Amino acid sequence: MYIYFNGDLLNEQANLPITKELSFLRGVAIFDFCGVRNKIPLFLDDYMDRLFNSASQVGLKVPVNRTQLGRDISNFIHRNNIENGYCKIILTGGYTEDGFRPRKENMYMMPVGEINYDQSVYTQGVSLLLDEFKREIPEVKTTNYLNAIRKIDQLDKAGAVELLYHDSGQIRECSRCNFFIVKDQVIITQSQEILKGITRKQLLYIARKTYDVEERPIFVEEINDADEAFITSTTKVLFPVVQIDGRKIGSGKVGPVSKDLLQKMNNHIKDYIKDN
Ligand SMILES: *Cc1c(COP(=O)(O)O)cnc(C)c1O
Repeated sequence: MYIYFNGDLLNEQANLPITKELSFLRGVAIFDFCGVRNKIPLFLDDYMDRLFNSASQVGLKVPVNRTQLGRDISNFIHRNNIENGYCKIILTGGYTEDGFRPRKENMYMMPVGEINYDQSVYTQGVSLLLDEFKREIPEVKTTNYLNAIRKIDQLDKAGAVELLYHDSGQIRECSRCNFFIVKDQVIITQSQEILKGITRKQLLYIARKTYDVEERPIFVEEINDADEAFITSTTKVLFPVVQIDGRKIGSGKVGPVSKDLLQKMNNHIKDYIKDN
């Protein structure tokens, strides 16, 4: 396994000075996480756009230009022989002299193996746990998941797979996924103060071909009379949600729209691979 570090591919045992790394010392890092199928990075342009956007919003500079980044990712996938899996790209504040002030960014890539969820999550659906919380810089994919990680026990006890964040009376998203409800065949998802997932973007594109779509604020009460709910992310694609905080959503079973969209998404991914 090779780790990409500022343009070089290093053996995974390579020593990197963590005592000067701002990501380690102060949590200064953004990242992105792109799926790979048949050695093809899925929706690569979208992931690169988001990485550049996250970087600029927190004042970090991506050390290579976009063309070079695309080349580096492709090279990284081939050298690591990632047939199916993920490529994680992390951009940090870099090394610091005084333990606080960034000097020059560090960029890393690491391979992540295939993640296979139990099929039951797709056929039976999953539960979420409401959590009043606001992510610090919602539009940026930072590496800070402290709130979610310290609540893992709570989540496990509730038999839930994710926290569903809400603040100011509005539903935002989960700790690592975006959230949708379906009401009268309309697909509804929060528009503001969320991390705009690439899976969310692709799902909305696919959904618009068949359904009405609303990107707008979702109020917490709306989940009580939703017909269906689901979450999306790069690794999960689409998990139907059948319960939130112990209350059934709709019939409490996986709904037809969620099922339909999952199938359409899987086909959309297959089409992307065929065309690239
Ligand atoms: C990564 C992430 C998502 C999902 O984004 P995808 O690009 O679809 O994987 C949603 N919300 C948060 C907070 C995330 O970190």
